Amino acid sequence: MISVEEALSIIAANVVPGQVERIPLEESLERVLARDVVSDTDWPPFQTSAMDGYAVRLADVSRPGEPLLERSEPVAAGDSLPGPLHPGEAVRVMTGAPLPDATEAVIPVERARREEGHVIFETVPAPGAHIRRRGESIRQGSRVVCAGQRVRPADIALAALAGADKLTVFPRPRVVIAATGNELVPAGEKPRPGQIRDSNGPMLVSLCRARGWPAAERRLVADEATDIPALFDSAGKEEEVLVTSGGVSAGDFDLLPGIARRRGFEILFHGVSIRPGKPIAFARRGGTLWFGLPGNPVSSSVCFHLFVRFALGRLEGDPSPGAPRVAAHLERDLPPGGARETYRDAILTNAGGVERVEPLTSAGSHDIATHASANALIRIPANAEPQAAGSKVECVLL
Ligand code: AMP
Ligand code: MG
Repeated sequence: MISVEEALSIIAANVVPGQVERIPLEESLERVLARDVVSDTDWPPFQTSAMDGYAVRLADVSRPGEPLLERSEPVAAGDSLPGPLHPGEAVRVMTGAPLPDATEAVIPVERARREEGHVIFETVPAPGAHIRRRGESIRQGSRVVCAGQRVRPADIALAALAGADKLTVFPRPRVVIAATGNELVPAGEKPRPGQIRDSNGPMLVSLCRARGWPAAERRLVADEATDIPALFDSAGKEEEVLVTSGGVSAGDFDLLPGIARRRGFEILFHGVSIRPGKPIAFARRGGTLWFGLPGNPVSSSVCFHLFVRFALGRLEGDPSPGAPRVAAHLERDLPPGGARETYRDAILTNAGGVERVEPLTSAGSHDIATHASANALIRIPANAEPQAAGSKVECVLL
């Protein structure tokens, strides 16, 4: 059986980002940029005032108390460039106003006294005081947001100043979720004895949507020879990725991998040395991917975080796809790992800048209640030695 690392490298080899698209700036939040954003202008675009005050020449204000002639037209933000500052003159300027040529400092209005067409200053300004120089933050032609970056609100601000509406981004992968199993009924129904409510379908849809991946949900699919082939036949029409739960382990009704193969999918792996989640399957037909997650709810969730997130991140151009990881100190002893790489439910906290992690005790891969209280998974390598409280372990953030 292949290792988790081998499974991830098979996914990496089979998943490439989609065709880039140009979209309006306001829709680009959280998308991965495919091309650098280059500014078509300096920022600030002209010399401007940082305060409500007076534009002055330094020679005119070298001694406090000297009256200067106040120009009759003040300059406000949005006004066009005023005429140059004459010797002996002060010009009233507002924050963001373009400054007259020859301005060497701005004196805040709080430091000025007006007297019959004149203005008197109590302080001597430092050269350049309260002047925002053209291009001091951004130079025309410089790169303000780099390709490969996920667009954050501050990047949207930079792109807007740089005149970049629209942005070239990678597409969001579209996902279809299908829960399979004869025993399943929808959440709104009362199960008969022997039936259970489907929790994986709604969970997987939400796991996608929480990360901005559009996910549609198919109606429940029975373990039979008609529903399942139809599911694989329709895959790839609207969505690039099919994610199923159930039907991939060794039971008599675990039919999905065989049917997927007969419907033209190449099975790239089936079975990974991991706990929980061992039966996971991954396959591809042209540009369509299939992840067959095991039906046990914790296995489904763990496999989503480890494998599906990695693939969807790659599809949308993320240069470091997959769930983030941190190192944390164990709050208590951790028993030895089994033969398979193990991902254990845990609660990660940060106290005074130090990550600490408490392993939870789970009843098994059906124990969704314990899993739901976890915010991280501790990664325990195959055949790991027991670890004492205080040791550092690797955690996957959920
Ligand atoms: P399977 O992977 O189909 O062998 O299912 C493994 C276990 O997960 C069984 O106990 C199933 O009843 C349970 N199971 C399968 N699908 C779901 C689902 N959608 N929601 C909750 N439990 C499920
Ligand atoms: Mg089943």
